[in-house]
Amino acid sequence: MDHAIPLFSAERVNAGLDLNAPTQRVIASHWYVLGNEVSSFEQEFAAYCCTSACVSLANGTDALELGLRALDVGAGDPVMLAANAGFYGSTAVHAIGATPVYIDVDPETLTMSAETLREELRKVRPKAIIVTHLYGQLADIESIAAIAGEAKIPVVEDCAQSHGAARGGRRAGSFGTIGCFSFYPTKNLGALGDGGAVVTNSAELDTRLRQLRQYGWRTKYHVDVSGGRNSRLDEMQAAILREKLPHLDRWNAERRRIARRYNEAFSDLPLRCPASVGDDYVAHLYVLRISGRDAFRAFLKEHGVTTDVHYPVPDHHQAAYASPAGSRLPVTEAACGEVVSLPCFPGMTDKEVEHVSHAVRLYFGEQNA
Ligand SMILES: *Cc1c(COP(=O)(O)O)cnc(C)c1O
Repeated sequence: MDHAIPLFSAERVNAGLDLNAPTQRVIASHWYVLGNEVSSFEQEFAAYCCTSACVSLANGTDALELGLRALDVGAGDPVMLAANAGFYGSTAVHAIGATPVYIDVDPETLTMSAETLREELRKVRPKAIIVTHLYGQLADIESIAAIAGEAKIPVVEDCAQSHGAARGGRRAGSFGTIGCFSFYPTKNLGALGDGGAVVTNSAELDTRLRQLRQYGWRTKYHVDVSGGRNSRLDEMQAAILREKLPHLDRWNAERRRIARRYNEAFSDLPLRCPASVGDDYVAHLYVLRISGRDAFRAFLKEHGVTTDVHYPVPDHHQAAYASPAGSRLPVTEAACGEVVSLPCFPGMTDKEVEHVSHAVRLYFGEQNA
């Protein structure tokens, strides 16, 4: 191999799309912020997610933070979330001065365990619960939403890796009180820069978020809501996302097909594959669990396969916020030492998938890839 197979390729995903037309449309309109492209994208994305409203924002982390603020989460309030999801939810929680309460994950899906959540709710009453659909895998969101609903605690879905993941005819973002998305270029729906959004069925939260993304204004220059800022998706990115949204289901199907081929190729190997390759998994990342990860990664690198680790450090062990008596999260901590991501992206060729499969089998001394 002259070039290593990448983990993701924006060039391949965007191949064949006309990204000049939407860009030119915005230039010709001479309107760059909060215009027709943004309002049209918001309508189209809300419809895609099966929610009544979408408020676009500058990025996915703002979606989480402003989402929590819209739900009245403030300084000192406990917020429950998993600790294996890249610190994004924790960034939002800490930005508010709220207190993260980490819940261990399910060993099958590596998403928040509904059982553990139920137990922890007997000890602490959080102001909100953040559920991350990690790697593109829908969490046990129906159970979690039911448990939270009984206790009247709002649920924030972190859908930054799960655009379009569906179960029982419902899509990611439509199960909770709000759903938060990122359109960072590597996400399943990616802009040509930063972008984010919150979807919701609540007219009240819709209004609140529109105020929060624009300085807390009720009307121009009248600040009615505290905690506001400037967090807007621009017209260029909205126009690009409108061009790309109609292709999202096709791209997700392509990602899922690659994941399925990997799962089949690795079924007899001593490693752990993603639990689902159905509609509830949009294969944002194809993540294996393996002991002796470093040697495995070095072997694959030698064989022209790029890998990465999502994520190596659990949130409660991050240096900036680690507490000496950090909570014990056995499943989370074990997973952080074992997870490794393989290339899985739209536009990846059959030959490349075969090459990766072969290299993985070769590592285990299996020649018949
Ligand atoms: C990417 C990501 C985010 C943050 O999105 P940004 O747009 O980069 O701020 C939040 N949560 C998860 C799970 C993500 O993967």
